[in-house]
Amino acid sequence: MLASAFGLFTSCTRAPRADEGSKRLTDEPSADAGSRVPTCVFCDVSREKGFDVVWEDDAFVAFADRSPAARHHMLVVPKRHVESVRTLVPSDASMVQRMAAAGHALLDARGVPAADRRLGFHIPPFNSVGHLHLHVQGLPYKNVWRRAKYPYVPGGAGRHKGWTWFAEVGQVQAILEDGGRVRVGPC
Ligand SMILES: [Zn+2]
Ligand SMILES: [Zn+2]
Repeated sequence: MLASAFGLFTSCTRAPRADEGSKRLTDEPSADAGSRVPTCVFCDVSREKGFDVVWEDDAFVAFADRSPAARHHMLVVPKRHVESVRTLVPSDASMVQRMAAAGHALLDARGVPAADRRLGFHIPPFNSVGHLHLHVQGLPYKNVWRRAKYPYVPGGAGRHKGWTWFAEVGQVQAILEDGGRVRVGPC
């Protein structure tokens, strides 16, 4: 299928969906609702575990992508387990905003101009690891195949994004701030 042709599932193994049975029933922010999932690789990001950590604070950690698609390619993840961009609720907009700010600060430090930045999330089932991770990239991409994994697809007719497996971070913020949820289809 298209997704595997682009290698979306090859870079890391998908974490077992251990928390599938305990879906959140409330509208609390995901960042405060999650806890550590023992089988999740992104719940335990540290230098000791082999990650090239470039920044962290109490709530988030950033590290270099193991298989960079662009000149600069880092991931920003919440330290608490958050399943994916699809599970985010409107009250998570502030968490997304903090992740974006961290990503931009990392790109600032590397001298990447605004026009050469791409930040966003893969949308399940087109994600590789079942723990929310923001891709933070300084372009150019290494080749067209890598670029194809991170498309920016604008919305039309009152939508923030079109049909795509990748949601740019500003699109995600706008969707959540409008009270919506992120999905593969236009939203
Ligand atoms: Zn996790
Ligand atoms: Zn991804």
